[in-house]
Amino acid sequence: MHQTAEYGIAAHWKYKQGLANKNLGTEQEFEWVRKLLEGQQDTDAEEFVSTLKVDLFADEVFVFTPNGDVKSLPSGATPIDFAYNIHSAVGNTMVGARVNGRMVPYDYQLSNGDIVEVLTSKSAKGPSRDWLALCKSNEARNKIRQWFKKERREENIVTGRAAFESELKHAKMTLASITADEVLPHILHKLRCGTLDELYAAIGYGGTTAAKSVARIRDEMQRLGRLQAEKAAAAARTTAESVIMPGSASGSTPGEAPGPAVKTRHSDTGIIVEGLGNCLVKFAKCCTPVPGDPVVGFITRGYGVSVHRSDCPNVQPEKRRPEEAARWVKVSWAESKLPNYKTSLELSAKDRDNLTLDVAMALSTAKVKVSALSARSLPDGHATISMVVEVKDKAELEGVINKLNNIQGVFLVSRASGK
Ligand SMILES: [Zn+2]
Repeated sequence: MHQTAEYGIAAHWKYKQGLANKNLGTEQEFEWVRKLLEGQQDTDAEEFVSTLKVDLFADEVFVFTPNGDVKSLPSGATPIDFAYNIHSAVGNTMVGARVNGRMVPYDYQLSNGDIVEVLTSKSAKGPSRDWLALCKSNEARNKIRQWFKKERREENIVTGRAAFESELKHAKMTLASITADEVLPHILHKLRCGTLDELYAAIGYGGTTAAKSVARIRDEMQRLGRLQAEKAAAAARTTAESVIMPGSASGSTPGEAPGPAVKTRHSDTGIIVEGLGNCLVKFAKCCTPVPGDPVVGFITRGYGVSVHRSDCPNVQPEKRRPEEAARWVKVSWAESKLPNYKTSLELSAKDRDNLTLDVAMALSTAKVKVSALSARSLPDGHATISMVVEVKDKAELEGVINKLNNIQGVFLVSRASGK
């Protein structure tokens, strides 16, 4: 006993010196400890230890392993703290403890100089949740929580999920609304979880609560909603500003990345809108322009720039309203264009058998793709055929019109305009 205690104290002193300089000062300051050790060789170990404790370690208790290693624990520590201080595997397989050779309960408070022996078993069930209240050290508490987190994951997911879903229902949200593809990543990020199962597991083992998680999800959903509203508002503003400043140097609003240069020759639609960067362009149905046609643009509300042929009846100056003057913009054909543009044609002819067939044959030999074709017989013996053809430019379109004009009985082929 004496030998153990002496060795233990020396070891402890050395250990404390290791932490030393920040807590307890330099070796010289321990001169008196060395003297104490020399002078007290014959006193009772327990008494000696308690003297030392009063002087140095008021908030700690230090105890021994059966091998004489010293362990420093918070005062009030129990065998549970001791076991987890040795190793989490020792704590997790603990089935009992002996102090100074006697069995003790788990809530036994260790005293200075106790020799503690942990009994373990491979078939131990693992820590009980009650242990969290019995241990004094954060180390033991954390290791016990870790065990519940890991060993009981499946169980935690099931209980966590049930708690989460009931809380979600309470908040009048559905699981589907938060698991939508565009929402879920934001929510998991906000909750700092990789997956929903991780969240359920965390709720299950007590790392977080369902109520806290749902509150954070509600915040995040509201933030996402606001963000979406802001985006929509910004898009509307961009359109509005373009309307006000059609000749400005850039179509981008402040704070956005600068749009492509005005003089760009590249465009997704084959149309360059003067004064605006890349913007949404659509071709007006009334006149279906193709490359080569002189064109003009009109900034619509919310649907980008509508491109008409300059000779479209809908864009003639007498039809333009003065208050919309700023919305008419210059547009031109870019060098890079789409492979095909759809345009509408109307054919009038004397009605006869096989007229429609001949029209279809003519288009086929001209290698023109037809997206729509409808024929109508009129009571006066005439027929009209409306069609939508796809051509690469005006020259190709004129060739097609010529071919159609050569069909027997055809007296007019015109491009659609102004309807
Ligand atoms: Zn038009």
